[in-house]
Amino acid sequence: MRMIIPRSLDEAVEAAAAHPEATILAGGTDLMVSANLHGLRPEAVIGVRRVPELAEWEGRFIGAGVTYARMERGPIAALAQAARTVGSPQIRNAGTLGGNLGTASPAGDALPILAALDADIVLRAAGGERSVRWDDFIVGPKKNSREPGELIIGARLPDDIPDRQAFAKIGFRNAMVIAVASCCLFRAEDGATTVALGSVGPTPMRPRAAEAMISAERSPTPAALAEFQRLVSEEVSPITDHRSTEAYRRTAAGVLARRLLERVLG
Ligand SMILES: Cc1cc2nc3c(=O)[nH]c(=O)nc-3n(C[C@H](O)[C@H](O)[C@H](O)COP(=O)(O)OP(=O)(O)OC[C@H]3O[C@@H](n4cnc5c(N)ncnc54)[C@H](O)[C@@H]3O)c2cc1C
Repeated sequence: MRMIIPRSLDEAVEAAAAHPEATILAGGTDLMVSANLHGLRPEAVIGVRRVPELAEWEGRFIGAGVTYARMERGPIAALAQAARTVGSPQIRNAGTLGGNLGTASPAGDALPILAALDADIVLRAAGGERSVRWDDFIVGPKKNSREPGELIIGARLPDDIPDRQAFAKIGFRNAMVIAVASCCLFRAEDGATTVALGSVGPTPMRPRAAEAMISAERSPTPAALAEFQRLVSEEVSPITDHRSTEAYRRTAAGVLARRLLERVLG
């Protein structure tokens, strides 16, 4: 196996152009599982952990190499809440935003935040840079639209992020757990509400009818909260797998979204 360790973004982009078939390695917390349990044996690996530019977080641009440990202490409360639920301290020190995007698991905990904020994912190749909206980037379970030779550079969030925001997930236990269902919610002063859910569909998803309904309610009544919960449950498309059932996830999605809404309203 050939290992390439660039020390700058330019070097990393050059390496990716020269070896478009290479596997990109950031924290390795997903890749090592693929190697150890699923027999992944890449011909070439480009390790991007020592690329300082990727670890930068400037304003609304979060570099792909930013770890959960940093996100935990960052200024976006929902992202910090999500980061705190990821793995163990060791995983949070190594695992990165770019790795969560690269894996594109429906259970990736950073992804509902990017979805609820309509974030753009920024990619760079030898030919230049492009931005892709989150839902054009995550195109299926563990599938993204990154082209060979491209690096994920980071995620660009909108300038205006509502202060009322929250994230929560349900799992088997409180720590070291992959989400059975997760939810992130933002609510602006005028009532505009965005919601994104994870682990209840092939990709993170937005319950658009529920968002539209609750955004029109300036002071949601108990009946409006109940209708919001019902619409969220109706709109998700979960599966039954080894972690949970379709029915449980559907119920959990609605309950999570409603609780987060009550939390930000309270
Ligand atoms: C014990 C354990 C617990 C975990 N718990 C959670 C959890 O609670 N929540 C959660 O969401 N995840 C969890 N994970 C999964 C993992 O930690 C995350 O998905 C993490 O974000 C992966 O980041 P990484 O830097 O380690 O990625 P890596 O393993 O290095 O890479 C993952 C994928 O992304 C690609 N990639 C990485 N960086 C780039 C880049 N800059 N450009 C292009 N492609 C890139 C790689 O090629 C690979 O396909 C857990 C993993 C373990 C082992």
